[in-house]
Amino acid sequence: MNKQEKLEKLFEQCIEELKSINIDVQKNRIIEIKINTRSKKRYGCCKKISKDRFKIEISEWVMDLNEDIIKNTIMHELIHCMPRCNNHGEYFKNYAKVINEKLGYNISRTGNKERDFSISNLEFTEKPINFNYKIVCEDCNYNFFRQRVRRNFTRKYRCGKCGGRFNVFKIRGLISTNHRKIFLYIIEK
Ligand SMILES: [Zn+2]
Ligand SMILES: [Zn+2]
Repeated sequence: MNKQEKLEKLFEQCIEELKSINIDVQKNRIIEIKINTRSKKRYGCCKKISKDRFKIEISEWVMDLNEDIIKNTIMHELIHCMPRCNNHGEYFKNYAKVINEKLGYNISRTGNKERDFSISNLEFTEKPINFNYKIVCEDCNYNFFRQRVRRNFTRKYRCGKCGGRFNVFKIRGLISTNHRKIFLYIIEK
């Protein structure tokens, strides 16, 4: 499944969940959804094309986050399709409150990128970071960067790709890692 297909699948789920609490967001309006590959800052946006046509765009980097965070973003933009909800005013807030309470969402005015990346086990790197260590798997060469490494790191963690041991190398330099997923697991407490 590619990202657009995944997005459409999650979009349909959101639409159905809204129907289950008697919010028919597609009634009298057509809503298109697509991925925006350019936007690095915002999670998504909702454009009103005409009186009854809306176009939702979800930023591509959001598609790497956990599904509940993606759906949270879709829900947020779906509320913007409802009457008098083009901003984050009272009408928007009321829908958000109902959806949060009845469907267990966490819709707010803005997202918290740092938290969302951490939940999704992704490095949060808006700008290149001065990393001090490169961690390399002995067996498959999988590697990633860290600013700090605990003394017991190589005893505690194994490669999430192959189960191999890690070696830690001291490095210097600005590195842009671009929201990479980190694969590792803990072997001891
Ligand atoms: Zn919004
Ligand atoms: Zn490995």
